[in-house]
Amino acid sequence: MAVIVLNPSCQYGNVVMVADKEVYNEGLNLFDIAAVTKTALEKLGHQVYLTRDYRDEPSDLEREMLKANAYKPDLMVALHSDAAGPNSKPDVGGTSTFYASKRGKNLSNCIHPKLCKAIKTIYPDHVDRGVRTHWHKLYVLHNINAPACLIEILFHTNSRERKLLQNRDFHLLVAQAIASGINDYLKLAIHNKKKII
Ligand SMILES: [Zn+2]
Repeated sequence: MAVIVLNPSCQYGNVVMVADKEVYNEGLNLFDIAAVTKTALEKLGHQVYLTRDYRDEPSDLEREMLKANAYKPDLMVALHSDAAGPNSKPDVGGTSTFYASKRGKNLSNCIHPKLCKAIKTIYPDHVDRGVRTHWHKLYVLHNINAPACLIEILFHTNSRERKLLQNRDFHLLVAQAIASGINDYLKLAIHNKKKII
């Protein structure tokens, strides 16, 4: 049993508008994905905390990391969806995982390939954008006292990927892949003489 924090994006300002109607909100949607992932991890026997108590809870990263560190987690996974910049093609897509430490890299390498493999079973054109460090000093990865990674699951600016991001079966698929990757990481950590690697 491990103590796991899931940190769904609180970026309520990252929205997609179609004809004046908000059709996607990153903060709200990623909370839904995190809630399903929490259930999948609890089924594996883990103790899981989210950094927000409800879907549209006002939040900021500083508050969330204070909360996250107070749980003394064994690891944290931040969940986001990506957005293409104004100069990128609207059909840019795929999944990236970011880390900021050696342990975070190990965690990323346990989760990311499993996640991409799972997504590919229902979405063969999915682009694996890899595991890497971020050009920004991502606040949550630099302020959590635990191995951590930040996953950008698909692009909400890509209409096909946005539909998947809002699909309950897709949430379940993602949740199971992430939970399974986390278990691989924990097994590896136990193998390394109970030291969380
Ligand atoms: Zn985001």
